[in-house]
Amino acid sequence: MKKMKAVAFITLGCKVNQYETNAMTQQFIQKGYDVVDHTKKADIYIVNTCTVTNMSDRKSRQMLRRVKELNKEAIVVACGCYAQVAKEEIEKIEEINLVLGNNEKKDIVAYVEKYIENQNLKKLEENKKYKKIEITKVQQTAEKQKEIETQIEDVMNQKEFVEFGDITFTEKTRAVIKIQDGCDRFCSYCIIPYARGRVRSRKPEHILSEIGKIAKEGIKEVVITGIHIASYGRDFKEQYQLIDLLEEMNEVEGIERIRLGSIEPLLITEEFVNRLAKLSKVCHQFHLSLQSGCDETLKRMNRRYTTEQFKKIAKLLRDTFEDTILTTDIIVGFPGENEEEFEKTYTFLKEIQFYKMHIFKYSPRKGTKAAEMRGQVDGNIKEERSRKLIELSNQNEKEYNKKCIGKEVEVLFEEEKNGIWQGHTKNYILAHLRTGEHLENKILKCKCVGAEKEYIEL
Ligand code: SF4
Repeated sequence: MKKMKAVAFITLGCKVNQYETNAMTQQFIQKGYDVVDHTKKADIYIVNTCTVTNMSDRKSRQMLRRVKELNKEAIVVACGCYAQVAKEEIEKIEEINLVLGNNEKKDIVAYVEKYIENQNLKKLEENKKYKKIEITKVQQTAEKQKEIETQIEDVMNQKEFVEFGDITFTEKTRAVIKIQDGCDRFCSYCIIPYARGRVRSRKPEHILSEIGKIAKEGIKEVVITGIHIASYGRDFKEQYQLIDLLEEMNEVEGIERIRLGSIEPLLITEEFVNRLAKLSKVCHQFHLSLQSGCDETLKRMNRRYTTEQFKKIAKLLRDTFEDTILTTDIIVGFPGENEEEFEKTYTFLKEIQFYKMHIFKYSPRKGTKAAEMRGQVDGNIKEERSRKLIELSNQNEKEYNKKCIGKEVEVLFEEEKNGIWQGHTKNYILAHLRTGEHLENKILKCKCVGAEKEYIEL
């Protein structure tokens, strides 16, 4: 019997990349490949790269080199956002065999198989050549570099959402669904619009059919994700927005929870919240990417809201949903962020009291406006600001958890570790319950009896 080829995946970056890795995995499985862990020896390694910061680029390069150490003969494929925007940089990495952009992911198996076919043909040719001439090491290296094949379509010309076809979800309790791609915002620090192109929304019927499938597989929670989900529907001819989609999703039988991925604050209008209030399955955890709590910094970032607007949005959500939890992303050390600006951010964050904040130290991304701005901030200062905000975030989390003691919460249980069942409340607080019962994928109402910094006890 012919041995199946083994393929391994490494995913860097966001939930969209995770979704796409899942889709690529399914394609390889359908074609009879064996999927193995990326720490094991494989015949093909697919590195789904990220380019959101210079650090992500570095990590992507590291992974691309590292996998070849596991099998010198393996085919290494670089795909995703870093491959899309830094094709030339990537092609210099000798360990890589094939470079694919974001649009090529949907046909990845065909590209890999074509590459293998080409290599086999070349080998046949070379065998003939070796008999005739002696190739020096230098020539061999030059030939090696030529072996890197690249297929990258310009995403900026892409007008339609690219479907991956039928995806099987391997998760048991929660699945991530991609509803759109691309971003038209051009924040000054972000390269993503160049890596992902313009806003393209996925057709509602495709999303709803995927969700129906998820429900049939017994998964109870869906997380909707995209590059800029607030823009969902903007490219449709007819008027159809995210809230319309949420209303339809709320009707899908079997799905118990709908969670929104990261959203831009301006999506939250009174009309949106009023309609949302009628949807029983939508979780009241909102990840509103604020980025800075200082208006001057926000302006330089090309974010399109003010702190005053944000404050109103937070109030609207909290007044409407008693169990609202707000989380956010903050960038510290953005060019020009002096002590005064940082203080404004700190004070604002203290006032809003996010449950959790993901703090990023600004790292210039080549090709963006911010990378060229004056007033780049010293690394030690960024470190100190980041430490201060992480401390504030931890404090908020702990305080909020404490307030849950004595309250009834609804938990979807996910997994068991050392006799403790872990799950999340509807508003995404981690919950622990010590029990011998098997609770996987069960939703239970429980009383909160204790609180730690990162979780509540039931
Ligand atoms: S909204 Fe801004 S930060 Fe987010 S992907 Fe678009 S350009 Fe980047």
